[in-house]
Amino acid sequence: MTQPLKPCGTDAAYKRHLKRRERACTPCRRAHALATALQKDPDWKPKEIPACGTVRAYKRHLRHGEVTDRECCDAWAEDKRDRDRERRRQRRLQTV
Ligand SMILES: [Zn+2]
Ligand SMILES: [Zn+2]
Repeated sequence: MTQPLKPCGTDAAYKRHLKRRERACTPCRRAHALATALQKDPDWKPKEIPACGTVRAYKRHLRHGEVTDRECCDAWAEDKRDRDRERRRQRRLQTV
């Protein structure tokens, strides 16, 4: 008796990857992340996914192991510049 295999892009397929010691593919990782999020918070909605060109989107790419695009890289670089400047300012204030 064999159960029909769930296609990739489902939480079941994600677990199958793990069981076989495979690297879960992107659709499966997404499905698993979604299932986990919904478990923690049933009201969680995937439409909160930040748009590209923001730091949040950049971090999301990293989390999902995705390739970061130009827009997101630019947003991240700009944010980093701002934070570095702020840190330098704070340090200057502290050393006085
Ligand atoms: Zn898969
Ligand atoms: Zn992006």
